[in-house]
Amino acid sequence: MDKITSLAKRRGFVFQSSEIYGGQNGAWDYGPLGIELKNRIAAAWWKEMTQLHDDIVGLDAAILMHPRTWEASGHVENFTDPLVDCKKCKARFRADQIPEDKLAAKQCPECGGELTDIRKFNLMFKTHIGPAEDSASIIYLRPETAQGIYVNYKNIIQSNRMKIPFGIAQIGKAFRNEIVTKNFIFRTCEFEQMEMQFFVKPGTDEEWFNTWRQRRWAYYEKLGVKMDHLRWHQHGPDELAHYAKDAYDIEYQFPMGWRELEGVHNRTNYDLNRHTQYSGKDMQYIDQDNNNERYIPFIIETSAGLTRNLLMILCDAYDEEQVAEKGNDDDWRTVLRFHPSLAPITVAVLPLMKKDGLAELAQDIRKELKEDFSTDYDQGGAIGRRYRRQDEAGTPFCVTVDYQSKEDGTVTLRFRDSMEQIRVPRAELAARLRQEIKAYKRKA
Ligand code: ATP
Repeated sequence: MDKITSLAKRRGFVFQSSEIYGGQNGAWDYGPLGIELKNRIAAAWWKEMTQLHDDIVGLDAAILMHPRTWEASGHVENFTDPLVDCKKCKARFRADQIPEDKLAAKQCPECGGELTDIRKFNLMFKTHIGPAEDSASIIYLRPETAQGIYVNYKNIIQSNRMKIPFGIAQIGKAFRNEIVTKNFIFRTCEFEQMEMQFFVKPGTDEEWFNTWRQRRWAYYEKLGVKMDHLRWHQHGPDELAHYAKDAYDIEYQFPMGWRELEGVHNRTNYDLNRHTQYSGKDMQYIDQDNNNERYIPFIIETSAGLTRNLLMILCDAYDEEQVAEKGNDDDWRTVLRFHPSLAPITVAVLPLMKKDGLAELAQDIRKELKEDFSTDYDQGGAIGRRYRRQDEAGTPFCVTVDYQSKEDGTVTLRFRDSMEQIRVPRAELAARLRQEIKAYKRKA
């Protein structure tokens, strides 16, 4: 993880928030390459969940919601983590994350000192809206995007004439006052979620739950993620959230071990029942194709962290490869093997020399490619060095412009993974790149 964190900083993927002030715990900034990668991961998910499914529509709900929302959802009462402190070294832990024997003995897992009793700690960030800081002005930063979907579900049925089964997808920020934020961007206080809530008829929920489990698994396969680094974890009775009937996590083998990447949950009709109760509004679905049968739908949720997906994609792509055996540092290259559709830069254009019109020609080729691809241009230093820099940024294709290009209109196309180079006529370059992106398969 140290290598990935330092690469992320060095190449402008992720910076510590407010670094000049010593950093802000639990918050991170996404630099030029990071925001491109994040946008592409979000776009891939959005395409998968909306464009490829006729029965799913999108939403972008506000972060600030009526405070009653969080009473109804159970978050005010239940969204807590068990907290313990070490009286000696002052370290703070989530009680469910320290070994049972240590917890039973009230012994600090780090220094052996005495632990405090367990206190329940609510993870929601609270603030005030308006000028008065009294209890009437309390408002929360949403701890999940899901509730914005539930409170809009009737609006969407009416405005878009949706029929059950159907889904609503949303990507957006969520905030949790996490007790322990470590492992880089894995667990942060401010993060982004990609959630899809699928509304189904009660009784069909288990089947839909299985369908969505399969679909979400297949999605990661399509993204080219190492499938032996993914596994399912079913929540046991003591892990299930207060609203869940069944829940599975897709876990990824991060450098620090197997951790949750995404959750697929059967949330039953808990949330809509509670919103009915707290808002006084009728949240029933009226099935006009079935004698106006009325029911409160069950909800199958797929909930993935966008920023956590970004960490997974970075870890999954990271590779160090020996490319020569001359006994010096240059023998190795660091390469991020991103799927070309996720890579922040798709193609870099490199003139072999700055002089003799090669730079101008390369700029001209870049200008042409820019319309369809995210591009970079680099004319500084030895060509081998420039390839390494692009490898480290995860750029799948480099186009090199040399003297021959001036004569016969061909360029060198260099592939990141195999380092193979071929000559391609400039006129065919864009089509060739599109074809390579579509056909991309990661080698094991
Ligand atoms: P945990 O038990 O690890 O705190 P959770 O089970 O409460 O997490 P969910 O509420 O199911 O997590 O959230 C859905 C997804 O949102 C998670 O799978 C994860 O990808 C992401 N996520 C949740 N909390 C955080 C966080 N603090 N930082 C980054 N991503 C998060």
